[in-house]
Amino acid sequence: MSTTTANTAHAHEQSMFEAVLARLDAAAKLMNLSEEVAQVLRNPAKQVKVALPVMMDNGKIKVFEGYRTVHSTHLGPSKGGIRYAMDVNADEVMALAAWMSFKCAVANLPYGGAKGGIKCEPREMSVGELERLSRAYAMAMKDVFGVNRDIPAPDMGTSGREMAWILDEYNKVTGEDAPGVITGKPIAIGGSLGRDAATGRGVMVNTLAALKKMGLEPKNVTAVVQGFGNVGSHAARLLAEKGIKIVGIGDHTASFYNENGIDVPAAIDYAAKNNRTLKGFKGATEIKSSELLISKCDVLVPGALQNVITVDNASLIQAKLIVEGANGPTTPEADPIINDKKIICVPDILANAGGVTVSYFEWVQNKAGYYWTEEEVNSRHDQKMEQAFDAVWNNAANYNTSMRIAAYITALQKIEQGVKLKGAY
Ligand code: GLU
Repeated sequence: MSTTTANTAHAHEQSMFEAVLARLDAAAKLMNLSEEVAQVLRNPAKQVKVALPVMMDNGKIKVFEGYRTVHSTHLGPSKGGIRYAMDVNADEVMALAAWMSFKCAVANLPYGGAKGGIKCEPREMSVGELERLSRAYAMAMKDVFGVNRDIPAPDMGTSGREMAWILDEYNKVTGEDAPGVITGKPIAIGGSLGRDAATGRGVMVNTLAALKKMGLEPKNVTAVVQGFGNVGSHAARLLAEKGIKIVGIGDHTASFYNENGIDVPAAIDYAAKNNRTLKGFKGATEIKSSELLISKCDVLVPGALQNVITVDNASLIQAKLIVEGANGPTTPEADPIINDKKIICVPDILANAGGVTVSYFEWVQNKAGYYWTEEEVNSRHDQKMEQAFDAVWNNAANYNTSMRIAAYITALQKIEQGVKLKGAY
């Protein structure tokens, strides 16, 4: 096989946007989505790629690739995070942007979908380099972003710190003060209480809703959480607070199992003092990272990377319930294996919609200039997530399909109205 063919075959296998289209097509067929609407959604509305020259600490200029893809704006301005990671590329950003369209529609938010990213290794960059890179990106995207146009937020490798720099740069170049142009900001500059924990909170609410349908009591249930960043650590903490025994945790540095339960606050404290990593944690036995997803548990939360549940390990999963905290953790080829095993899978576009739901609340608060209490944020979040879960659960029953395809159907039913009502040229 020539190198080109090998690369193409590899790229083909890895295409995340194709994974989105595979699910879109399956849902479209079941619900009889009009081919015209499907065609609109197969083609992202806008794709921007920029070169970002940044002065590194060693005095040399390094050029980074930056992306922003707006997938759709039929239900409102586009919304979605910005990720800093080495695997960022046009295909991945396009897939993540499409997922944001579906996620916002499932959560019933007045938004379309977008995603951005910079190809970089943030863990190997200084704070100054990251600040210059973030500001360069904001400047390059000044005409894409807008409080009523396209609203970014954090994603993998970014947090409130980057949002603050991007907001500041955006305000400087536009000469305005528009805090709602970006969400996931620190509280002091217009962030929302509850936003930081929101994605993990959404995972918790979806888990409890699914367990209830399955007739299981949280106190009799064990869970494994893969990923210990913003999503995984809050999800593990909140699930434990609801009485679920967390038996496995892991991040990119190490994985752990303890059948008697892991002290999650202790693990969070440990990671906080250990460069935000779990390596060296003593509250459980260290296991291989490949063992974590297939270890014994009732609930599995993949809360880190995409494409981790594949044809190679799906048949070995012991959980009865998978709640996808990450975006795209399951490959389309693994879906039928999970369905055949009668594992219920709460899909990413529902399970991790808590983050963007509280981003929406942040944007509403910024527009009103009036800020809510954490209790108000949390109770509105929980209500929205429970409604979204029920809508998807009911569609799964109505269409006799998996929750994943039902979530796409739920989203497409809404987006179809937007496309049809707004019309075309
Ligand atoms: N990056 C998060 C996601 O994938 C949050 C997006 C947002 O808040 O706009 O859902």
